[in-house]
Amino acid sequence: MRDVQPIETRPARMRALAVLPVFFALQGRRVVVAGADDGPVWKAELLAAAGAHVDVFTTARSADLDALCHSPPAGSVRIIEREWQADDLDGAALAVGALAGDAAQVFVAAARQHGVPVNIVDMPDISTFSFGTIVNRSPVVVGISTAGVAPVLGQAIRAKSEALLHPALSAWAATAKHVRAKINARLAMGPARRHAWRRFADQALAARAPPTHADLSAVERTAASPGGSVALVGAGPGDPELLTLKALRALQSADIILYDRLVSPEILELARREARRMLVGKAGNGPRCRQDDINALMVKLARDGQRVVRLKGGDPMVFGRAAEEIEICGAAGIPVEVVPGITAALGAAAELQVPLTDRRRARRLQFITGHTESGEPPACNWASVADPQTVTVFYMGAGTFGRMLPELIAAGLPPATPALAVSSATTPRSIHVRCAVCDLPAALERLDRSAPCLIMLGNGLAGANEEAVRIDTACRLG
Ligand code: SAH
Repeated sequence: MRDVQPIETRPARMRALAVLPVFFALQGRRVVVAGADDGPVWKAELLAAAGAHVDVFTTARSADLDALCHSPPAGSVRIIEREWQADDLDGAALAVGALAGDAAQVFVAAARQHGVPVNIVDMPDISTFSFGTIVNRSPVVVGISTAGVAPVLGQAIRAKSEALLHPALSAWAATAKHVRAKINARLAMGPARRHAWRRFADQALAARAPPTHADLSAVERTAASPGGSVALVGAGPGDPELLTLKALRALQSADIILYDRLVSPEILELARREARRMLVGKAGNGPRCRQDDINALMVKLARDGQRVVRLKGGDPMVFGRAAEEIEICGAAGIPVEVVPGITAALGAAAELQVPLTDRRRARRLQFITGHTESGEPPACNWASVADPQTVTVFYMGAGTFGRMLPELIAAGLPPATPALAVSSATTPRSIHVRCAVCDLPAALERLDRSAPCLIMLGNGLAGANEEAVRIDTACRLG
């Protein structure tokens, strides 16, 4: 049999590009702008912001243009009160015309002849370059182009990017120069150095404030001994739109995500693509991972230098075993961060438009777990639930509510108290049931037990948006 020689393969060719994004260094370069009225003002400002000396040829100067000349963001802006001439383009780095018709064509032809890239405002077809939509976190600059096809889409992408890239990113990126010297001195080229840089990048992307001295020392320490961390992150009740920006950033900088059954695939979809994912919650009616095993796994992964995200439904501090996990990490010397999420009760209240407090009839709000370790109803002060001024939300209570109800009624809860069961709140599978509390056990029988379900009860729920809830009950429950 013939030996097969190894064959070097190369990655697939890149897909065709509609335009090529390039970034011009304009510091100290001359740029020609031609046009009338306020047409050129915004472009002149943009070019000056990039450090250019902007010559604006116009026969109609405006107050805005004058103001820009007096205080340009950087570079300079000069008004030359005459029509442009061909030799004005000599040696220019770029030319921009706020011109129309023949005037635009002549300007383009002259610029081309002088070898100067040219843009005509709103006329991409005859321009040799176009301006992107910008997200400015200088020295980080993001340019977005839709090749003139969908400017509004470009704006929407910009708005999303603005929300994702905190203004503090500017300061973090600016410090990279100094950090570079330290990291590169400590770590030889290779995986350790790459790891330290990736960490710096993740920190810069997650930061909500410019780096302090302490932050920078931490970055340097990381370079000296790359160690892991744990973040307990709230995934909210289901709808991915309800994630916090901080949770999103944590997901996007994770090495590994240990997630609960309640976390939807749509949310995991938002995590960094390279992050490993492990389901550690109970899957359907299958076996549940032991909490001790989850704790041990978390500590081991973090000790291996990984950024572990422990992703939990709702808020990690509400019925989420956070106390144990924080304690274990603390004992192991692993840095822990907690990122809050919207707890199920608040997601359900928003979805149903049912306020949980009301100064006329609900002055207290309490969350109670519906079962203990062994699956039994908890021992509780049931009189608090019977208090007419209280709204109570039971988590994990659908299976035990039938057994709790007699105790509640014995403690003084009127059987006609308004109650709601809300299953899979904030997801497309959401179901609401509204009835008197005495009818709730029968209604719960009809719900899918594998879906998460909340029970809410109290006089405070009486008036709120009955219409919305009743219609839903009729449609979804049949
Ligand atoms: N930390 C979570 C609660 C975990 S306990 C939080 O803050 O929301 C799990 C229980 O939460 C479920 O049994 C159910 O009662 C409730 N729950 C979680 N997500 C829910 C949802 N989308 N709709 C209804 N109940 C939900």
